[in-house]
Amino acid sequence: MVTTADASTHQATSLFEDAQARFDEAADALRLNPNVRGVLREPRRELTVHFPVERDDGSIEVFTGYRIQHNLARGPAKGGIRYHPEVTLDEVKALAMLMTWKCAVVQIPYGGAKGAVICNPKEMSLRELERMTRRYTTEISILIGPESDIAAPDVNTNAQTMAWMMDTISMHQGYSVPGVVTGKPLSIGGSEGRTDATGRGVVYCIQEAAKLVKLDLRDARIAVQGFGKVGGATVRLLHELGCKIVAVSDMSGAVFRGDGVEPTLALRQQQETGSLVGTPRTERISNEDLLRLDCDVLVPAALEGVLRADNAGGVKAKIVAEGANGPTTPEADAMLREQGTLVIPDILCNAGGVTVSYFEWVQDREEFFWTLEEINARLRRIMTRAFEDTARIAREHDVELRKAAYMLAVGRVAEATLTRGIYP
Ligand code: NAD
Repeated sequence: MVTTADASTHQATSLFEDAQARFDEAADALRLNPNVRGVLREPRRELTVHFPVERDDGSIEVFTGYRIQHNLARGPAKGGIRYHPEVTLDEVKALAMLMTWKCAVVQIPYGGAKGAVICNPKEMSLRELERMTRRYTTEISILIGPESDIAAPDVNTNAQTMAWMMDTISMHQGYSVPGVVTGKPLSIGGSEGRTDATGRGVVYCIQEAAKLVKLDLRDARIAVQGFGKVGGATVRLLHELGCKIVAVSDMSGAVFRGDGVEPTLALRQQQETGSLVGTPRTERISNEDLLRLDCDVLVPAALEGVLRADNAGGVKAKIVAEGANGPTTPEADAMLREQGTLVIPDILCNAGGVTVSYFEWVQDREEFFWTLEEINARLRRIMTRAFEDTARIAREHDVELRKAAYMLAVGRVAEATLTRGIYP
């Protein structure tokens, strides 16, 4: 099974096995109670649904979707919905487990979940996407709800997808249920700052990591893979800080400019042509070249498994900031550690999104909305504290940031599980 961003790549173990291996390492380091270990190694609930959707030409297509809840010990499950032609149950299980650890690292009161539909949204009309989303939402409505499991956007889903999900659940209930999803449009209970939140959190982490490696971020050379919700915001915010974005990529390829790609030109090129390639004053390079560029910070912000044993040796960046979930395989992780590259792990680095999702949920429940300044200040506080907590564990136990973040998260979830006890 290959579930990587590049079809030419090969992954020896499944993403869920990788996720379990990382959990096991942390559990070993914590000398975790073996009973709790057994509970945390597996998802609590795995729902697979097959459902019909009418295409615009009147034909009926049966789609397959998933909703996985990994853990509910610290609060309701929380996690995004991915639309992708190659998404697998294994991948969704891995991503659900990552969400559990991510929420625990930033200490927000959620467990972890993830959902997906196997589909190619690029080949579907807006009406077809809406019908598919509403039917998928109905199928998984036995799990999701503002008190039980809260969805959010992920790859190929967005604020509009969340609006359809929220409206579908609200129609079932007979009243508005904004708290069932986050990442909604502002007009129906979304939060200020949610669109940029993941990228903003990535930037806060890069700022903290730069202090550790004594890197001055002004004029620092940055390469970003992926120019979607996470990559796009990261590029724009780092550019505002004075960094040079030497390369950026999307599915169609990468563009490079030694003096820095102008984010507004890249965005305009993408909006007008659907691809970054051809951005004025840039030269085209491959996505693989981007990963090996001579730069200070590399931000993989596309899909998983892009840094692997066969290319990690070529990474020259001092800092790898994991905007994406699971972009580094365990083999690549070991190589980067050996090379002295500081990797900011996904469960810390991209936790800004779920943090502001939590703020959105709280605001929906309070029916009282905060300003952008309040959101960003609270986000910075939480991300900085999480980074400091992780760096402290890394120092105390002489381990890399990923293992430290896992130790922090697994320890917190294990404590909640033990404190609640095993039912019945
Ligand atoms: P998105 O769909 O908005 O953007 C994905 C980007 O990656 C697009 O620009 C796409 O063209 C590009 N891409 C796809 N395949 C590529 C390839 N082979 N090479 C280079 N670029 C490629 O998705 P997103 O929400 O930005 O999510 C990106 C990653 O971040 C995912 O791993 C997701 O799980 C993770 N993430 C997202 C959020 C969030 O708030 N959106 C939060 C945490 C983690």
